[in-house]
Amino acid sequence: MKILLMGPPGAGKGSQSEKLVKDYELTNISTGEMFREANRNNEQLGIEAMRFINKGKLVSDKITNEIVRKRLLRPDAERCFLLDGYPRTVAQAEALDTMLDKMESKLTAVINIVVDKQAILERMVGRRVCKSCGLSYHLSFKPPKQQGVCDACGGELYQREDDQLHSVKNRLEIYETKTKPIIEYYANRGILRNVNGMQSFDKVYEDIKKALGEVA
Ligand code: ADP
Ligand code: ADP
Ligand code: ZN
Repeated sequence: MKILLMGPPGAGKGSQSEKLVKDYELTNISTGEMFREANRNNEQLGIEAMRFINKGKLVSDKITNEIVRKRLLRPDAERCFLLDGYPRTVAQAEALDTMLDKMESKLTAVINIVVDKQAILERMVGRRVCKSCGLSYHLSFKPPKQQGVCDACGGELYQREDDQLHSVKNRLEIYETKTKPIIEYYANRGILRNVNGMQSFDKVYEDIKKALGEVA
Protein backbone atom coordinates (compact mmCIF):
# COMPACT_ATOMS: atom_id res chain seq x y z
CA MET A 1 0.00 0.00 0.00
CA LYS A 2 1.25 3.47 -0.94
CA ILE A 3 -0.67 6.25 0.67
CA LEU A 4 -0.59 10.04 0.69
CA LEU A 5 -2.05 11.79 3.70
CA MET A 6 -3.12 15.33 2.82
CA GLY A 7 -4.86 18.19 4.57
CA PRO A 8 -4.10 21.66 5.89
CA PRO A 9 -1.49 22.15 8.59
CA GLY A 10 -2.93 21.00 11.91
CA ALA A 11 -5.57 18.77 10.29
CA GLY A 12 -4.34 15.69 12.15
CA LYS A 13 -2.10 14.04 9.56
CA GLY A 14 0.69 13.26 12.00
CA SER A 15 -1.71 11.98 14.66
CA GLN A 16 -3.48 9.65 12.23
CA SER A 17 -0.28 8.43 10.63
CA GLU A 18 0.95 7.13 14.01
CA LYS A 19 -1.74 4.44 14.04
CA LEU A 20 -1.88 3.87 10.30
CA VAL A 21 1.78 2.98 9.98
CA LYS A 22 1.43 0.41 12.78
CA ASP A 23 -1.80 -1.20 11.60
CA TYR A 24 -0.83 -1.37 7.93
CA GLU A 25 2.92 -1.80 8.46
CA LEU A 26 3.80 1.25 6.40
CA THR A 27 7.05 3.17 6.32
CA ASN A 28 6.28 6.64 7.62
CA ILE A 29 7.75 9.45 5.54
CA SER A 30 7.00 12.93 6.89
CA THR A 31 8.99 15.66 5.20
CA GLY A 32 8.33 18.12 8.04
CA GLU A 33 9.60 15.58 10.58
CA MET A 34 12.63 14.79 8.37
CA PHE A 35 13.56 18.49 8.32
CA ARG A 36 13.06 18.86 12.07
CA GLU A 37 15.09 15.74 12.75
CA ALA A 38 17.93 16.92 10.51
CA ASN A 39 17.90 20.18 12.46
CA ARG A 40 17.97 18.35 15.81
CA ASN A 41 21.02 16.46 14.54
CA ASN A 42 22.67 19.73 13.50
CA GLU A 43 22.78 18.73 9.84
CA GLN A 44 23.27 21.56 7.36
CA LEU A 45 20.13 20.62 5.43
CA GLY A 46 18.02 20.84 8.59
CA ILE A 47 19.49 24.12 9.76
CA GLU A 48 18.85 25.73 6.37
CA ALA A 49 15.35 24.28 6.10
CA MET A 50 14.43 25.64 9.55
CA ARG A 51 15.04 29.18 8.32
CA PHE A 52 12.07 28.78 5.98
CA ILE A 53 10.00 26.56 8.25
CA ASN A 54 10.12 28.91 11.23
CA LYS A 55 8.72 31.73 9.12
CA GLY A 56 5.92 29.50 7.88
CA LYS A 57 7.36 29.34 4.35
CA LEU A 58 7.86 26.23 2.26
CA VAL A 59 11.28 24.69 1.78
CA SER A 60 12.22 24.76 -1.92
CA ASP A 61 10.87 22.07 -4.23
CA LYS A 62 14.41 21.17 -5.25
CA ILE A 63 15.60 20.35 -1.72
CA THR A 64 12.35 18.67 -0.73
CA ASN A 65 12.11 16.49 -3.84
CA GLU A 66 15.68 15.39 -3.36
CA ILE A 67 15.23 14.19 0.23
CA VAL A 68 12.07 12.32 -0.74
CA ARG A 69 13.73 10.75 -3.76
CA LYS A 70 16.57 9.46 -1.60
CA ARG A 71 14.18 8.24 1.07
CA LEU A 72 12.01 6.33 -1.41
CA LEU A 73 15.04 4.48 -2.72
CA ARG A 74 15.70 2.88 0.65
CA PRO A 75 14.54 -0.75 0.82
CA ASP A 76 11.93 -0.17 3.54
CA ALA A 77 9.96 2.13 1.22
CA GLU A 78 9.84 -0.27 -1.69
CA ARG A 79 6.51 -1.94 -0.90
CA CYS A 80 4.55 0.19 1.51
CA PHE A 81 4.77 3.78 2.61
CA LEU A 82 2.75 6.62 3.98
CA LEU A 83 3.74 10.10 2.85
CA ASP A 84 2.66 12.86 5.24
CA GLY A 85 3.17 16.48 4.22
CA TYR A 86 4.48 15.72 0.73
CA PRO A 87 3.71 16.69 -2.01
CA ARG A 88 2.77 20.26 -1.10
CA THR A 89 3.02 21.89 -4.54
CA VAL A 90 1.99 20.80 -8.02
CA ALA A 91 5.67 20.68 -8.99
CA GLN A 92 6.28 18.23 -6.13
CA ALA A 93 3.31 16.10 -7.19
CA GLU A 94 4.76 15.90 -10.69
CA ALA A 95 8.21 15.06 -9.32
CA LEU A 96 6.68 12.30 -7.19
CA ASP A 97 4.99 10.83 -10.26
CA THR A 98 8.32 10.72 -12.04
CA MET A 99 9.97 9.01 -9.06
CA LEU A 100 7.21 6.42 -8.82
CA ASP A 101 7.28 5.79 -12.58
CA LYS A 102 10.97 5.04 -12.37
CA MET A 103 10.30 2.63 -9.53
CA GLU A 104 7.50 1.08 -11.63
CA SER A 105 5.17 1.87 -8.80
CA LYS A 106 2.06 3.95 -8.19
CA LEU A 107 -0.06 5.41 -5.39
CA THR A 108 -2.85 3.32 -3.89
CA ALA A 109 -4.80 6.14 -2.28
CA VAL A 110 -4.76 9.81 -1.40
CA ILE A 111 -6.57 10.58 1.86
CA ASN A 112 -7.52 14.23 2.33
CA ILE A 113 -8.44 15.23 5.89
CA VAL A 114 -10.93 18.09 5.78
CA VAL A 115 -11.04 20.52 8.73
CA ASP A 116 -12.45 24.04 9.01
CA LYS A 117 -10.29 27.06 9.63
CA GLN A 118 -11.31 27.71 13.23
CA ALA A 119 -10.42 24.14 14.22
CA ILE A 120 -7.10 24.38 12.38
CA LEU A 121 -6.16 27.44 14.41
CA GLU A 122 -7.15 25.80 17.71
CA ARG A 123 -5.27 22.66 16.86
CA MET A 124 -2.07 24.40 15.78
CA VAL A 125 -1.90 26.88 18.62
CA GLY A 126 -2.48 24.17 21.26
CA ARG A 127 -0.11 21.65 19.67
CA ARG A 128 2.93 20.53 21.64
CA VAL A 129 5.56 18.24 20.14
CA CYS A 130 8.12 15.91 21.70
CA LYS A 131 11.66 17.19 21.24
CA SER A 132 13.05 13.66 21.14
CA CYS A 133 10.61 11.51 19.18
CA GLY A 134 8.39 14.05 17.36
CA LEU A 135 5.04 12.75 18.68
CA SER A 136 2.37 15.43 18.87
CA TYR A 137 0.07 16.31 21.74
CA HIS A 138 -2.52 19.01 22.37
CA LEU A 139 -2.95 21.11 25.52
CA SER A 140 -6.73 20.46 25.57
CA PHE A 141 -7.51 17.68 23.09
CA LYS A 142 -4.66 15.28 23.79
CA PRO A 143 -2.79 16.26 26.93
CA PRO A 144 0.14 14.08 28.00
CA LYS A 145 -0.22 12.16 31.28
CA GLN A 146 2.37 14.41 32.86
CA GLN A 147 2.46 18.05 31.83
CA GLY A 148 5.31 18.88 29.44
CA VAL A 149 6.55 15.28 29.21
CA CYS A 150 6.13 12.79 26.32
CA ASP A 151 4.11 9.68 27.32
CA ALA A 152 6.06 7.54 24.87
CA CYS A 153 9.68 8.45 25.54
CA GLY A 154 9.82 10.89 28.47
CA GLY A 155 11.15 13.64 26.17
CA GLU A 156 10.41 17.32 26.69
CA LEU A 157 7.38 18.81 24.93
CA TYR A 158 7.72 22.16 23.18
CA GLN A 159 5.72 24.50 20.96
CA ARG A 160 7.01 24.59 17.38
CA GLU A 161 8.06 28.09 16.39
CA ASP A 162 5.96 27.76 13.23
CA ASP A 163 2.88 27.02 15.38
CA GLN A 164 2.93 30.53 16.77
CA LEU A 165 0.25 32.79 15.41
CA HIS A 166 2.45 34.88 13.09
CA SER A 167 3.65 31.82 11.14
CA VAL A 168 0.32 30.05 11.20
CA LYS A 169 -1.29 32.74 9.05
CA ASN A 170 1.45 32.37 6.45
CA ARG A 171 1.12 28.59 6.39
CA LEU A 172 -2.62 28.71 5.86
CA GLU A 173 -2.21 31.12 2.96
CA ILE A 174 0.42 28.91 1.37
CA TYR A 175 -1.82 25.90 1.84
CA GLU A 176 -4.67 27.64 -0.01
CA THR A 177 -2.58 28.85 -2.94
CA LYS A 178 0.08 26.16 -3.40
CA THR A 179 -1.13 22.93 -1.83
CA LYS A 180 -4.89 22.90 -2.39
CA PRO A 181 -4.55 22.67 -6.21
CA ILE A 182 -2.99 19.21 -5.78
CA ILE A 183 -6.31 17.88 -4.49
CA GLU A 184 -7.75 18.39 -7.97
CA TYR A 185 -4.68 16.72 -9.47
CA TYR A 186 -5.45 13.48 -7.60
CA ALA A 187 -9.23 13.74 -7.73
CA ASN A 188 -9.01 13.52 -11.51
CA ARG A 189 -7.38 10.12 -11.12
CA GLY A 190 -10.09 8.66 -8.93
CA ILE A 191 -7.78 7.77 -6.01
CA LEU A 192 -8.72 10.70 -3.76
CA ARG A 193 -10.92 10.19 -0.69
CA ASN A 194 -12.06 13.05 1.56
CA VAL A 195 -12.37 12.28 5.25
CA ASN A 196 -14.15 14.50 7.77
CA GLY A 197 -11.45 15.60 10.20
CA MET A 198 -13.90 17.45 12.50
CA GLN A 199 -14.46 14.36 14.63
CA SER A 200 -12.71 12.57 17.47
CA PHE A 201 -9.28 11.05 16.81
CA ASP A 202 -10.82 7.54 16.78
CA LYS A 203 -13.70 8.42 14.48
CA VAL A 204 -11.38 10.07 11.96
CA TYR A 205 -9.21 6.97 12.03
CA GLU A 206 -12.22 4.72 11.47
CA ASP A 207 -13.25 6.79 8.43
CA ILE A 208 -9.73 6.66 7.00
CA LYS A 209 -9.76 2.88 7.30
CA LYS A 210 -13.12 2.74 5.55
CA ALA A 211 -11.83 4.97 2.75
CA LEU A 212 -8.76 2.78 2.32
CA GLY A 213 -10.99 -0.25 2.12
CA GLU A 214 -12.73 1.28 -0.89
CA VAL A 215 -9.62 1.96 -2.95
CA ALA A 216 -7.03 -0.54 -1.74
P1 ADP B 1 2.10 20.41 9.50
O1 ADP B 1 2.00 18.98 9.98
O2 ADP B 1 1.69 21.39 10.52
O3 ADP B 1 1.45 20.63 8.18
P2 ADP B 1 4.75 19.65 8.72
O4 ADP B 1 5.47 19.02 9.83
O5 ADP B 1 4.18 18.76 7.67
O6 ADP B 1 3.65 20.63 9.31
O7 ADP B 1 5.68 20.72 7.99
C1 ADP B 1 6.27 21.76 8.72
C2 ADP B 1 6.97 22.70 7.76
O8 ADP B 1 8.02 22.00 7.07
C3 ADP B 1 6.10 23.28 6.64
O9 ADP B 1 5.37 24.41 7.05
C4 ADP B 1 7.17 23.63 5.61
O10 ADP B 1 7.87 24.80 5.97
C5 ADP B 1 8.15 22.46 5.73
N1 ADP B 1 7.75 21.37 4.81
C6 ADP B 1 7.27 20.16 5.14
N2 ADP B 1 6.98 19.44 4.06
C7 ADP B 1 7.28 20.22 2.99
C8 ADP B 1 7.17 20.07 1.58
N3 ADP B 1 6.67 18.94 1.04
N4 ADP B 1 7.57 21.10 0.79
C9 ADP B 1 8.06 22.22 1.32
N5 ADP B 1 8.18 22.45 2.63
C10 ADP B 1 7.78 21.46 3.47
P1 ADP C 1 -0.81 17.77 11.16
O1 ADP C 1 0.24 16.70 11.12
O2 ADP C 1 -1.85 17.62 10.09
O3 ADP C 1 -0.22 19.14 11.17
P2 ADP C 1 -1.28 16.89 13.93
O4 ADP C 1 -1.58 15.46 13.84
O5 ADP C 1 0.04 17.30 14.46
O6 ADP C 1 -1.60 17.64 12.52
O7 ADP C 1 -2.45 17.57 14.81
C1 ADP C 1 -2.45 18.97 15.08
C2 ADP C 1 -2.92 19.18 16.51
O8 ADP C 1 -4.30 18.87 16.61
C3 ADP C 1 -2.21 18.29 17.53
O9 ADP C 1 -2.05 19.03 18.70
C4 ADP C 1 -3.19 17.14 17.72
O10 ADP C 1 -3.08 16.59 19.03
C5 ADP C 1 -4.54 17.80 17.51
N1 ADP C 1 -5.53 16.92 16.85
C6 ADP C 1 -5.30 16.12 15.78
N2 ADP C 1 -6.43 15.44 15.44
C7 ADP C 1 -7.39 15.85 16.32
C8 ADP C 1 -8.78 15.52 16.50
N3 ADP C 1 -9.42 14.64 15.70
N4 ADP C 1 -9.44 16.13 17.51
C9 ADP C 1 -8.82 17.02 18.32
N5 ADP C 1 -7.52 17.38 18.19
C10 ADP C 1 -6.81 16.80 17.21
ZN1 ZN D 1 8.68 11.43 22.76
